Amino acid sequence: MTSPAIAQHLIGGELFGDAAKERRNPARPGDVAVLAPVGGTTETDAAIAAAVDAQRAWATTPAPARGAVLLKAAQLLTERKTQIAEDLVREEGKTRAEAEGEVGRAIGVFQFFGSLGWSASGSVYPSGMPSTTVTTRREPLGVVGLITPWNFPIAIPAWKTAPALISGNAVVLKPAEITPMSATHLGMALRDAGLPAGIFNVVHGRGSVVGDALARDPRVAALSFTGSTAVGLSLQQTLHARRARAQLEMGGKNGVLVLDDADAAKAAQVVAAGAFSLTGQACTATSRVYVTPGVRQAFLDELTTLAGTYVPGDGLDAGTKMGPVVSDAQLERDVSAVQDAVDGGARLAYGDASADGLRFAPVVATDVAHSDPIATDEIFGPVVAVLDVDDYESGLAAINDSPYGLTAGICTDSLTHSTDFAARVQAGVVKINRPTSGLDLHVPFGGVKDSSSNTFREQGHTATEFYTWEKTVYTG
Ligand code: NAP
Repeated sequence: MTSPAIAQHLIGGELFGDAAKERRNPARPGDVAVLAPVGGTTETDAAIAAAVDAQRAWATTPAPARGAVLLKAAQLLTERKTQIAEDLVREEGKTRAEAEGEVGRAIGVFQFFGSLGWSASGSVYPSGMPSTTVTTRREPLGVVGLITPWNFPIAIPAWKTAPALISGNAVVLKPAEITPMSATHLGMALRDAGLPAGIFNVVHGRGSVVGDALARDPRVAALSFTGSTAVGLSLQQTLHARRARAQLEMGGKNGVLVLDDADAAKAAQVVAAGAFSLTGQACTATSRVYVTPGVRQAFLDELTTLAGTYVPGDGLDAGTKMGPVVSDAQLERDVSAVQDAVDGGARLAYGDASADGLRFAPVVATDVAHSDPIATDEIFGPVVAVLDVDDYESGLAAINDSPYGLTAGICTDSLTHSTDFAARVQAGVVKINRPTSGLDLHVPFGGVKDSSSNTFREQGHTATEFYTWEKTVYTG
């Protein structure tokens, strides 16, 4: 049996913490995957103080030098990729291929933002005043707090941390309590890359304690959160009350519209990949599908066949296509959503409400009413509801009839419908004949409605806007 990985706080450049809490591998209950400390307000206060002390010197470090540290961190993450991915599989459960893909994304993010150290920033304007030039520059905010979920435990911290650091901020990260090791690896890579002490801090502990303290502390100028809509909206109130900047990336109930003119086999591949990859535990996962009558049966035949290929297993085993559910609490959500749908009259075209430990096979539900919770509420498991619609317009209306607006997709051969869909669907990311999950790292990402605070986008060049403010300088 492999020994547990040791997660630690990183505060003021020091790694420390006792092994207070164990996290077990969701695929192997006997495998203690990680031992981690549990921090509280004392550790949070110390991390914020360290960040405040260190930030000014970092902000005045030339941007190319800041970028060089990020590029060195990318190199170290690359050298450590196999170990980081293995620890990620053990603490979260995704497959080795998915974990390596995720670590690869974190590496790409640091390469992308590291290279921005050499980019031009700011603008030059003509002035209406004589002999005057007007320029703009972007200033760092100071200390920023990051609160992240368990489902991408290294990629999401990376895609918040890298734009914050390249912009000259100091960071205090509170990762999800059930996946502490990935954030520790990130901290070790940044420390070993030469990032000055105090510029990147990690505090492990409960969201309601550490996360809450970060959100309330007046020394934290801004907070970027990814997680559930319920927690995000409550943080928004806290941050609004003290006029701190907030970025909230929250839940989704992502719909795909399959039209009669779509290739049924290709549409099923798009939906299966979107619904069952990552065990359906992605904010961008497909969880509701609207199908027009002419393609319905062929599409369902293809989808149920594909569902059968996602056999849940141990992510560390070669050939496992789908890992286990992350936790007992998440399994309970999956099982009760399916059971309630059946009780409400839905039919299961594939799968059922049973599980083997945390191994839960895909579910395809049909004959679902539009108001059924399986069609309206985020479940966050490998469960997809297939609903009948008459035509394009009623399908588009059904997709938009949701409080969420993260991703949406359409499967069609019609340029007219795909163009119209891209314009009218209420979602931050639109996929045409592509799975709703799976994103490039260099383009803007975010949702609308209850999926996002709708203010600043993550990823790509514009991600730095959240972490900076614009100053206008007149020079005579
Ligand atoms: P969650 O329960 O909202 O937790 C997210 C983070 O918030 C965790 O670090 C959690 O700490 C912390 N937290 C919990 N309560 C808090 C409080 N009162 N104050 C401050 N922080 C608090 O979400 P999750 O279960 O980890 O992740 C799944 C959710 O994330 C889904 O809804 C999914 O759609 C969403 N998500 C969205 C995106 C996106 O980009 N839109 C991406 C990925 C995931 P603990 O350690 O105590 O849990």
